[in-house]
Amino acid sequence: MSIENKAIGIHERSIMKAARIFLVLGLVNVCSAVCPTPTVSYGWPRGLPVTYSWMTYFGPSAFSEVGVNGIGAAQTIDSAFPSWTYSNTQENTSGVGFYWTGGTGQVNIMVVRVNYPGVPNLDPHRAAGYTMAQYSETGIVISQRITLYLGSLDYGGNPIYDEAASSFQPFVKKVMLHEIGHGMYLTDQPLFGSALCGLQTFGESVMNGSCGTNDSQNMLPTSVRPCDNQAIQ
Ligand SMILES: [Zn+2]
Repeated sequence: MSIENKAIGIHERSIMKAARIFLVLGLVNVCSAVCPTPTVSYGWPRGLPVTYSWMTYFGPSAFSEVGVNGIGAAQTIDSAFPSWTYSNTQENTSGVGFYWTGGTGQVNIMVVRVNYPGVPNLDPHRAAGYTMAQYSETGIVISQRITLYLGSLDYGGNPIYDEAASSFQPFVKKVMLHEIGHGMYLTDQPLFGSALCGLQTFGESVMNGSCGTNDSQNMLPTSVRPCDNQAIQ
């Protein structure tokens, strides 16, 4: 089990000059928590209202569309956004707010099922989800897409999600808090190797990796933590 965090070359140009597409993420397992949380050089601009909405997957058959409503998780996914809005207005100085309507920035959320779990390149992420953020040369995020991968396996071959368990919905929120964090200048906690969940500091950062099916080891917290707030620009 390990974290996957790689840039994938999607050479797509945005309307902004020299904008880049950056694929981050891989919310799986194993890291050591650092406080303040490690950062990257891009994020939403201060004070920006950001709209979030559900999106339908269409693309290669390695994945099938499930949809936010298909897992009964709309409310859970929705709940991650006001949690971040609260932190950004009450606990850090970014002022970035996430709203269902009226925002300037845009976050889209997709939920898909991995059709070939564990198969290299067809279950490429070994992750609960990933974020694709489009950002300008000056590091301003323009848009963000979050995809949750049901049915994916971690590097130990264990299911990342168990949709039938009561821990599923709380885990979905944890994953969402993590993914939204990728648009807030935050990056994954450092990788220490495989199957070493114990190296993490339990619950210290939303940028921890998960450990066990539905994060059974509770590496991920259920709200934005002080170490995260300290890191936000
Ligand atoms: Zn991540």
